[in-house]
Amino acid sequence: MIEITTLNHRYPNGKLALDSIDLSIKRGEFVVIAGRNGSGKSTLVRHLNALLLPSSGSVKVNGLCTKEKANLLGIRRTVGMVFQNPDSQFVGMTVEEDVAFGLENTEVAPEKIKLLVESTLRSMELSDHRNCSPRSLSGGQRQKVAISGVLVMEPEYMVFDEVTSMLDPVSKLEVLATIQQINEKGISIIHVTHRLEEAINADRLIVMDSGRIVLDGAPCEVFAHPDLVQKYGLELPPIVELSRRLSDAGILKKEVVLSKDDLVEELCQSISKT
Ligand code: ADP
Ligand code: MG
Repeated sequence: MIEITTLNHRYPNGKLALDSIDLSIKRGEFVVIAGRNGSGKSTLVRHLNALLLPSSGSVKVNGLCTKEKANLLGIRRTVGMVFQNPDSQFVGMTVEEDVAFGLENTEVAPEKIKLLVESTLRSMELSDHRNCSPRSLSGGQRQKVAISGVLVMEPEYMVFDEVTSMLDPVSKLEVLATIQQINEKGISIIHVTHRLEEAINADRLIVMDSGRIVLDGAPCEVFAHPDLVQKYGLELPPIVELSRRLSDAGILKKEVVLSKDDLVEELCQSISKT
């Protein structure tokens, strides 16, 4: 469990980037954090593995307070972070070396490292590229290498800060599917994005504005307030927008539909009734 209590973050220039944040994230949860640029998303998630420390309030990861220096290693092991630009995260000459890097700085035995790297590359469908330079791969594959380097450390929580924003549409889908798979292994996901369609499969959607949490609920609950979503600088996913319009026009009974399959099913039902 991650427990954040009345967290404030003030940068040295005086900017209050987080304003009284209270938030708990459970093991296994898939949480999306959305919000316009500058709303405080990156500042918030950097607190989850002690890259930033509270100006006031507290952040606890499995009971370990981020302010205690002695907890740092344990917290970094528990919460892994992946950032927007994979190229800034590469350290190895080959994919294999790169993925092994984090583990080589721990007490894990070399044979165990080899096994962990192998199984991670296999699960990420990167085994065939193990001897390539990470930089020679496609954008999606490069991001998957960066994700593997964190996954191999066996974290309980993984934070993805706008990891899809620099990718082409195909790579974006590939990386989103990977994130979903990681969640299915039982690892909690905290996925930061400003595209609400990436929240459709999440357990929970949190919207931030001006350093505060302004919406927090199941995606379909948040999508039921299109005026608020718009007020906070976000757009409803196209499928949700379409279903709302059809519902307003009296064609659909359900207000919020989250997938193409559901939309077709709802349409078939309403057509068969007429
Ligand atoms: P987001 O990730 O939602 O775009 P950030 O957490 O990066 O938002 O930023 C929140 C606010 O804090 C913004 O107003 C931003 O300009 C400010 N900010 C971010 N980093 C710094 C910094 N290092 N120094 C001062 N202000 C910062
Ligand atoms: Mg950011």
